[in-house]
Amino acid sequence: MRLAGALVARILARIAEMARPGVTTADMNAVAEEMIAKAGAQALFRGVKTRQAKFPFPAALCTSVNEVVVHGIPSTRRLEEGDIVSVDCGVRLNGYCGDSAVTLRIGQVSHGVQRLLSVTQDALELAIGLIRPKTWWSDVAGRIQAHVEAAGFSVVREFVGHGIGREMHEEPKVPNYIDPRDRRQDFMLRSGMVLAVEPMVNMGAAAVVYGDATGWPVVTQDGSPAAHFEHTVAVTDGGVDILTLV
Ligand code: MG
Ligand code: MG
Repeated sequence: MRLAGALVARILARIAEMARPGVTTADMNAVAEEMIAKAGAQALFRGVKTRQAKFPFPAALCTSVNEVVVHGIPSTRRLEEGDIVSVDCGVRLNGYCGDSAVTLRIGQVSHGVQRLLSVTQDALELAIGLIRPKTWWSDVAGRIQAHVEAAGFSVVREFVGHGIGREMHEEPKVPNYIDPRDRRQDFMLRSGMVLAVEPMVNMGAAAVVYGDATGWPVVTQDGSPAAHFEHTVAVTDGGVDILTLV
């Protein structure tokens, strides 16, 4: 899993270098496709089907621009100064999966958008810092939620992190909020668990809708920008090990 995670990290680092006005998310996807093929790995998102989607996901990367929260399809539209793009990459290498996402700035972004990115990235780092055996996930999720809401932003409810291993999406569900009406899905962290932790944060309200008839891009209902950061992390005896680092 460390090898799969390192490949994802290398891809995202390379994509980050491309993030400037004029580049397209299709250009980013092409680079990811090439790196994945060269490594002998498999792109996990390509071919994914959902109940709502009109066709299987057609790319290696999810590229979600501005008000798109997740599941944006790479396109030939040029990114502009002030845009943000969440780039999510998942691969399988030697039978094991890695999954990570980062939200990139295109040129200068507004102060508010910069704060959205900082708060979301800090929420992920805060969560990772709390991961250790015998901790209830709800304690971590509550801290993510509190951090985001204290900044005046909202945590997306419809999409959550996940266990990861031989498959990209394994049990348990790893939410970024607490649902006081449903504590049954809570779980205790144990050494050897591997989780994809991925806060999705909206600048405005938490509600999301599908952005078009394809059933793929998920957008904020109020049109406000959204940010998304993700790491694949292993729970260890001593705490935590981030697998999606170069
Ligand atoms: Mg991901
Ligand atoms: Mg994920």
